[in-house]
Amino acid sequence: MRLPAFDYYSPTSIENAIQIKNEFGGSAVILAGGTDLIVNLKNRVIAPSVVISLKNLRELRKIDLAGDSLVIGAGASLSQVACNENVQRHFPILVDAIKHIGAPSIQRHRGSIGGNLCLNPRCLFYNQSFFWRKGKGSCLRTGGKTCLALEKAESCQAICSADTAPVIVALSGQLTIVGRAGSRSCSAQEFFTGKGETPFNLGPDEILTEIRIPIPWAPISSSYKRLSYRSAIDFPVINAACVATFEQEKIFRFRLVVSAAGPAPITLKDLESTFIGREPSQELFSEAEQAAVRAVEGIVVDNSIASKQYRVKMAGVMARRVTQSALTASRR
Ligand SMILES: Cc1cc2nc3c(=O)[nH]c(=O)nc-3n(C[C@H](O)[C@H](O)[C@H](O)COP(=O)(O)OP(=O)(O)OC[C@H]3O[C@@H](n4cnc5c(N)ncnc54)[C@H](O)[C@@H]3O)c2cc1C
Repeated sequence: MRLPAFDYYSPTSIENAIQIKNEFGGSAVILAGGTDLIVNLKNRVIAPSVVISLKNLRELRKIDLAGDSLVIGAGASLSQVACNENVQRHFPILVDAIKHIGAPSIQRHRGSIGGNLCLNPRCLFYNQSFFWRKGKGSCLRTGGKTCLALEKAESCQAICSADTAPVIVALSGQLTIVGRAGSRSCSAQEFFTGKGETPFNLGPDEILTEIRIPIPWAPISSSYKRLSYRSAIDFPVINAACVATFEQEKIFRFRLVVSAAGPAPITLKDLESTFIGREPSQELFSEAEQAAVRAVEGIVVDNSIASKQYRVKMAGVMARRVTQSALTASRR
């Protein structure tokens, strides 16, 4: 399959990249590792007039400790992140999530952490060849008036399928975004808008430059799990991440995030207060399961290889498993 025609730029500084992005706005896309972008270009899912490569921006590949945070450049490859000593020491959950992304070739050679967070939300009716989509007609995302997955939907229901998204939200990551007006910070949770057409809190002149993860003051217990049919090829059907800290055997901080259910990762906010001060128990794990099912019920639509009912049920199962695993790991 051939690539469509576009103008290619390979800036050597972030300023230059922003300048080009600002000049061409929404008709320009960023190319990091290209493991998702190139597939979408070939399938004519997107047709930008300009592609801006990040390959010459070495500063985007740094991973450093800065104060009480670990700063990961958006252009760092997945394996660079997974093999980094500080990531392994402080955030083994991120290493675990990365190991689930595609095959080792994607993790080692091309795929970047920034590209994973900015992964275009996926839909059974969208991530198809041009020929396939022609038979179905346009959807909200491709200029049509209706969503092919949910008849009366007001916005695109495509799914946030990135493995690292729930993990970085659970770890309270902060993203640095640079654009014409300078640099700004945005929480990983706010970065995901929940709208499939404009899934990220990113202006047309902006790029994601780094991910800052606060290093916890106390040891954290964490767990990431995902359900997928074929691990090296398929995206998650549902995934979940749980992070907790303890004080005197009782939960001090708790965060559970379920993703691949809708356009954005879902943080189960209520549990963050109701679990505080309690000890891990089967009752608690069941509460996490039920809360996850309730949270995704109204969000999941039939736009994945797995049915809606199955994904809702498995959101509960994944939530229960990560909660149990994170909360009992600390006691081992
Ligand atoms: C066979 C196969 C299996 C896969 N399996 C998985 C999987 O299981 N889980 C998973 O999460 N992913 C999977 N992927 C998708 C992809 O490989 C990864 O998500 C990868 O991390 C994307 O990174 P990249 O650098 O290649 O991104 P690219 O393809 O270069 O970019 C992806 C998107 O992010 C945008 N972008 C990239 N960097 C920036 C930036 N700094 N600022 C703003 N926008 C940016 C691009 O414009 C593009 O829209 C799979 C891909 C393939 C081909």
